[in-house]
Amino acid sequence: MRRDGLEEEHCLQMSAVARQRQRVNIEERKLLKREFYMDKHQSIAEGMYWNKAIETASATEIQQIQLERLQKIVQYVSQSNRLYKTRFDRQGLEPANIRTLEDIRLLPFMGKADLEEDYPFGYCCVSRDRIREIHLSSGSTGKPVVMFYTEEDLDQWATCMARCYNMAGLGKGTVLQITPSFGLFNGGFGFYHGARKAGFFVIPAGPGNTLRQIQLANDFRADAIAGVASYGIRIMEVMREKGIKITSLKKGLFGAEVASREMKKRLQREMGIEVFDIYGMTETGGVGTTGMDCHAHDGIHVWEDHYLVEVVDPDTGQPMADGQRGELVFTSLTRTAFPVIRFRSGDLSRIKSRSQCECGRTHLRIDYIEGRVDDMLIIKGVNFFPAQVEEVLMSIPGVREQYRIVLTERDGAKDAYLEVEVEEGIVPGRIERELRQVLGFSLDIKTRRPGELRRSAGKARRVIRLGDPEE
Ligand SMILES: [Zn+2]
Repeated sequence: MRRDGLEEEHCLQMSAVARQRQRVNIEERKLLKREFYMDKHQSIAEGMYWNKAIETASATEIQQIQLERLQKIVQYVSQSNRLYKTRFDRQGLEPANIRTLEDIRLLPFMGKADLEEDYPFGYCCVSRDRIREIHLSSGSTGKPVVMFYTEEDLDQWATCMARCYNMAGLGKGTVLQITPSFGLFNGGFGFYHGARKAGFFVIPAGPGNTLRQIQLANDFRADAIAGVASYGIRIMEVMREKGIKITSLKKGLFGAEVASREMKKRLQREMGIEVFDIYGMTETGGVGTTGMDCHAHDGIHVWEDHYLVEVVDPDTGQPMADGQRGELVFTSLTRTAFPVIRFRSGDLSRIKSRSQCECGRTHLRIDYIEGRVDDMLIIKGVNFFPAQVEEVLMSIPGVREQYRIVLTERDGAKDAYLEVEVEEGIVPGRIERELRQVLGFSLDIKTRRPGELRRSAGKARRVIRLGDPEE
């Protein structure tokens, strides 16, 4: 009985805390928006679209485009690639069976493992002479996933990116500093192709040498910076250490990593920029292809005329109702070299809204990515995502942005502890209490001095196994 009472009390406390956090979030959002709308970027309020007709098309119009394109792409892949043909044959499926958008469910899913089949040219639908570029990502079995681009695909990518740039209020003449590497990872080139299309002045800085990056941004008066979120954090740290600012910088477009809302808020506050969450993966054709959040910062607009998104139960593959969390599944409707059909992304989110957004766009919004199916940690019977831990850490003043969850195993029992950089005066007990209060459980905490944990130039490694060699 007593236990029940305690649990109830805990739940009440939790919901009070949750309510308070929600209130704070809403207030801060209003404040940030007002600041950015009114003082800095008056023009954004008027709206900036790359293609207003399509970005604000009615749901019926979009669905009609989607159906036509879906029918066409299924026919196309089945004619141009034997792996696709075999997969459809196995299901006894003809392209003509796709009569409505719901009929997409007749098509088989694809996962990373399928994409590695027949490496390197497996699902490529065009002859080699039409390929202009490739990008790779790591596969599930060690073989990379290859994305091929024809001239048309590069243009599709650039168009999606140009829409994202305009959605962030960045128009012709914007000075953009691009910080991901220009290589096999799609980030550097993706930002670049889009920036060329949108008419930007590009600083192709690439990663690393952070002090020089800051100097470059100041010398050329960069308006915006693009990269992975953890590199944004690195720039913020160096600015803090050296006591310097990038006075011209107004916006940051960050992607490729699950960054918590609290982390984004810190970036906004300390760098004095508006932060956008840009979404896309190698399999859909790279950064920005599947969308970004707008200045309302209330979820990510998916470019629905180019991609069909479904949310399914990660275990059963059954469709989830709007609002319910599940795995995102993408179908490329307009790509030529390698259009994925029902690709299971591994990213967990939900359909947040299908109604018109305050920015005027009608393309549906998904919630910010909560984590990846394979990122979920189960420690002492509790399931959680690293981003949930980050959210709590970043809400505690004096806790720095570098942390990592170290997984351990003793006699077959899995455990974990958390290493986190803190300023003087922050004790482990304080962090443990906060984690317990919000998440209902805690981890053993080992505090570190600022600068002690290893930084990476690319994506941050937030979870490591004890004894794993560090890169
Ligand atoms: Zn919007």
